[in-house]
Amino acid sequence: MAVGKTFIVEKTCPICEQTFRVVKTRSRILVTKRDEDGCTHYEDFNPYYYTVWVCEHCGFAADEKTFTTKIPDRHLTILRAVLLTKNIKIPFVEERTLGEAATAFRLALKFQDLIRGKSSKKAKYAHQLAWIYREAGDTTQENEFLAKAADFYEDALMRESFPIGELTDNAVMYIVAAIYWRLGDRQKATTYLSRLISDKGVREREPRIHDKARDLWGDIRAAKKK
Ligand SMILES: [Zn+2]
Repeated sequence: MAVGKTFIVEKTCPICEQTFRVVKTRSRILVTKRDEDGCTHYEDFNPYYYTVWVCEHCGFAADEKTFTTKIPDRHLTILRAVLLTKNIKIPFVEERTLGEAATAFRLALKFQDLIRGKSSKKAKYAHQLAWIYREAGDTTQENEFLAKAADFYEDALMRESFPIGELTDNAVMYIVAAIYWRLGDRQKATTYLSRLISDKGVREREPRIHDKARDLWGDIRAAKKK
């Protein structure tokens, strides 16, 4: 149940310039578990359902950062040409179902495609969409979006300059390794992990990443022996 764990705020949409409602998560929610690829599980509530904001008037969907940072004019032109002519209406709901949350992520991915958005952003959307399917026990859809997330992250590693916010390229390599491990691709997982473990710079400057890589490497070896 989302009651008491969320609240509603009003924002102005950068595309249609109308006021729309957003569900935000209160910070006091209890963590119950963290998966090796970064998915955090919370008690009785899944905040990933609300990461993507959707304008109830024009249907624009993106994360908070995209909505609150100035969108370049060339992107506005592309997005307005599509959204302001199609009359997409996505009704506001205070409590999203799995289907509604998934639609929000799929729309966000679609709009990133339209503006040829960064792979790192698409990776985040695909990864979190995989997480909501994971919680729902839908392994087929989870794996489909994990695979997409891994592709986007690998593309980001090749084309984008890091760090992106607090995300370093080594952190991304670890995430990609963890995703491949979940997908059952031990070889790709260990390729990334061995690069991280053997890199002295990682051990010195990002010891947490080094330790996590070593732990996951250990888990993979232990699983192989079984
Ligand atoms: Zn709008």
